[in-house]
Order: sequence, then C-alpha cells, then structure tokens
Amino acid sequence: MNAVESIFDEDILSRAETWERGARSWPSNERQLMTCARVADETHDVRTFEFRTQDAMPVRFEPGQFITVSAEVAGQRVERCYTISSPPTRPYLVAITVKRVTGGVMSNWLHDTLRPGMTLPAYGPSGMFTATRASAAKSLYLSAGSGITPLMSMTRASLDLGLNRDIAFVHSARTPGDIVFRDELQRLALRSPRLRLFFVCEGIGDEPEWTGAVGRLSLARLSAWLPDFALREVFTCGPAGYMTAVRELLREGGHDPARYHQESFDIASATPPPADAIDSTQQTFTVKLARSSKTFTMSASETVLAAARKAGVAIASSCAQGVCGTCKTKLLDGCVEMKHNGGIREREVQKGMRLLCCSRPASDLVLDL
Ligand SMILES: Cc1cc2nc3c(=O)[nH]c(=O)nc-3n(C[C@H](O)[C@H](O)[C@H](O)COP(=O)(O)OP(=O)(O)OC[C@H]3O[C@@H](n4cnc5c(N)ncnc54)[C@H](O)[C@@H]3O)c2cc1C
Repeated sequence: MNAVESIFDEDILSRAETWERGARSWPSNERQLMTCARVADETHDVRTFEFRTQDAMPVRFEPGQFITVSAEVAGQRVERCYTISSPPTRPYLVAITVKRVTGGVMSNWLHDTLRPGMTLPAYGPSGMFTATRASAAKSLYLSAGSGITPLMSMTRASLDLGLNRDIAFVHSARTPGDIVFRDELQRLALRSPRLRLFFVCEGIGDEPEWTGAVGRLSLARLSAWLPDFALREVFTCGPAGYMTAVRELLREGGHDPARYHQESFDIASATPPPADAIDSTQQTFTVKLARSSKTFTMSASETVLAAARKAGVAIASSCAQGVCGTCKTKLLDGCVEMKHNGGIREREVQKGMRLLCCSRPASDLVLDL
C-alpha cells in the first residue's frame, strides 16, 4: 500500500495544549527525581536513557527543549543540559540521548553508571529552540552528531500529531555507523512521504555497502537535494564548526537569516558574558535570599551565581554562560546588569526573571530563593 498523506494542515504544533492536557507542568527551576526506566544503545558511543517522574505523571514540554540533569560524580555535584529526544506527545517517559565525550565527566558517568531503576535529580524543561515558536509548513532540519536530538523530538511530535508538514531532514555524521536514530528515521520516512531524509557521512567507516552521500554538506549538495531550501524555516543543531559552515552556506544560498534557528550544545562556543559590563570601583552589595532568609555580600564585578557559590548557597546551574537557563531566578528587588546568550526570553525578563550566571549587581538584591 502506498503511504497516505495526512489531511491535517492545521498548525496544532503551536497549540501546545494538544499534548499538554493532563500533563504536569515542570518549571525549569524545580528539581525532581527521575527514575531511569530504560537504557538503549543508539550507536557505539550514543545511548538513550528514558526516565519516569517519581509520581509517574506525564510531563509537559515543547519539542526541542532540554532538561538539566544532576549527578554526584566522584564526590562532586555535576549538572549538564540534555535535550529531550522523545516527543511531548509521549509525555510519560522523558528520554535523553547522550554521546560520550572523551574525558567528559557527565556523559561518561551516564554511560558507565546509569542503569534502569536508578534515580537522578533533574531540573525542568527549558530552552527556546522549539518548532512550536517558529512553526512553518516547510522546514529544513540540519543536524550533525548528537545535535540530532532536538530535531528528532520535533520530527516525532510532528508525525505523532499527523501534521501535514513538509520536513526535509539533513543529517551529517562521521560514518554511517554514527548516524543516531538511523533505523527509526528511515522507517518514519517510508511511512510519511512528507518527511524526506538525507544523510551525509564524512567516510564510510566499516560499511563498504553504503550508497549514501560521502563528504560534507555543501551548497551544491543541498541545492541538488532541495532546490527550494531557501524558502524553508531552518532549524540547526550541531558542533560549533558545523553550525558556522551551515550559516555561511545558507547565506551564500540566499536563505533569509530571519528564518534561521539554532541551538548550540557547545557551551565554550558561546560568547562569555563580559566581566567589565559594570565599572565597579570595588563596590559591595548585599544579596538577600527571601525564602531561605540567607544573606551574603558580593562585589559588583562578580556574577551573582559565582558569589552565591562562594557563600555556600547551592543554586542549580549548568552552562555558566547565559545559554541554558538553568539558573533562572526571580529578582524580587534591586537591579542587575545581565548579558545573556539566549538563555532567557524577553517575556521572562519582563516578569522579573534573571539568569544569575551572567548577572552582576548594580544595587542590593533580593532573590526569590
Ligand atoms: C542546551 C543543551 C542541550 C544539550 N543536549 C545534548 C544532547 O541531547 N546530547 C548530548 O550528548 N549532549 C548534549 N549537550 C551537551 C551536554 O550538556 C554536555 O556538555 C556534554 O555531554 C559533555 O559533558 P561532560 O560532562 O561529559 O563533559 P565535560 O566534563 O563538561 O567536558 C567537556 C570537554 O571538556 C574537556 N574538559 C573537561 N574538563 C577539562 C579540564 N579541566 N581541562 C581541559 N579540558 C577539560 C573534556 O575532555 C571534554 O572534551 C547539550 C548542551 C546544551 C547546552
């Protein structure tokens, strides 16, 4: 039987309540215990971990968002962001798909230690790299390596909802054996004529029978596969070098940058918040924590997060560069100079939220902590 196209043109992806009905809201600054339900290998160095909340309630999130996982590794508390690779249409299990990083603390700990039945604290979904904010009838998903995870959640959600959305998914990998979710994507593309799949591998690895593209993504290759790529809403996720190359390629190809969205997993590639934002002549401010009644003093040149840590106050954080949003906290009184890298929305700033990792005080502060 030929695959039948969906009849739903309606943009239910942007009506998040479609899958949120009944699901529990999990704020990004709320820590809760997650129980590992399943562990599955995706490739030789990528593994998916599926979690259930302690109360087994469905979780509310948007496709493309991440959670912040916390673990005690060698006596140190470590926190890292991981995109939810599962779709919000399957809210009972939240999956993260993790690539081992050579010498990396958390990724190796998860691979080597985390097994079904174990529990881990995590902070709720966060992030703005989501198809629900910039949905379009025609999308181009561009990913490399583990950057495939947010785009996989978006693809799964779109197909689960039966959306008549034209998705072109172009994924770059080192070898065919490194293509994460390869079998599932191929199965989905067979069933869904509006999902088109293109893989490009730098080398064939141990798969001499590979007939797909070999090399790197280029403008010539992209134009041949998708002559209409410049008209698509583009979502990109991958290593910093890959994203720089992709942006340049799209620019050359006449793609409108306003229709370009990207997520970086590479914290080091983000511009660090400038330390000289405030000309502090060693000015000292007092920070009061409203809920715990703790108080500490700090200099105007430090970030609030760094000063809190020095004062022994534990605040959830991950990137320390204003990217991930894990340390988002309400400022109840006072004002700060915040230089973030996309980890907070204007709407949240208007509501008094600040990222403590990239905020320096300009007065005494009261925080909702
Ligand atoms: C929004 C977001 C979403 C993400 N989603 C995913 C995802 O879906 N899947 C995924 O796999 N990853 C994802 N990441 C990346 C993830 O958060 C981690 O950065 C990654 O797993 C590496 O963490 P780690 O603790 O293993 O490595 P780290 O310990 O942080 O080390 C990273 C690198 O630094 C090097 N290093 C560490 N310490 C030192 C030192 N003292 N001196 C010199 N070098 C050092 C290590 O060798 C390694 O190369 C995401 C990141 C962000 C920001």
